[in-house]
Parts: sequence; structure tokens; C-alpha cells
Amino acid sequence: MSIHGRREARIGCMRVARVLQAYLDGEIDEVTARRVSGHLDGCRRCGMKAHTYRAIKDSIARTGSLDELARRRLEEFAQRVSSLEPGA
Ligand SMILES: [Zn+2]
Repeated sequence: MSIHGRREARIGCMRVARVLQAYLDGEIDEVTARRVSGHLDGCRRCGMKAHTYRAIKDSIARTGSLDELARRRLEEFAQRVSSLEPGA
């Protein structure tokens, strides 16, 4: 018996990383968005990632261009942050 029976309602860091850009763009469904939002509240690493994505997106929005290179940089950044996590 487990007291963590609600596990399927939660969302992991890996999944958050995959949907984070879509989440910030408002391109995912409401249920997933709520789960991501809840995860970001409790996970400092993902919260930091979301903050950085937002800052980059904001600067892209200001310059008016979003090209493939920018997307790749975001992905590379996310992977680097993930690999920096100790004890992973
Ligand atoms: Zn996380």
C-alpha cells in the first residue's frame, strides 16, 4: 500500500521540460497546463527554467523574430540545466 496514490495526477520534470515551451505559448490543454503550473510552484529547477524561457521569449518578441536557431538554443539550455542537477 502506498500513501502516494495520486502519482498519476502529477507531472515529472522530464515531461515539464517537453511541454514547457508549449505551456508558455498557451498551446497545451487546460489539464496539462494546470499540472505544469502546479509543478513549477513546487520545483525550483523547473521554475527557474520557465523563468528563463519567458525572458528569452520576451526578448525574441521584442526583436520580432523567432527562428530555428533560437529554438535550438532554448532546447540546449534546458538540457544543460538538467545535466547540472546534482545527484540526478
Ligand atoms: Zn521539475
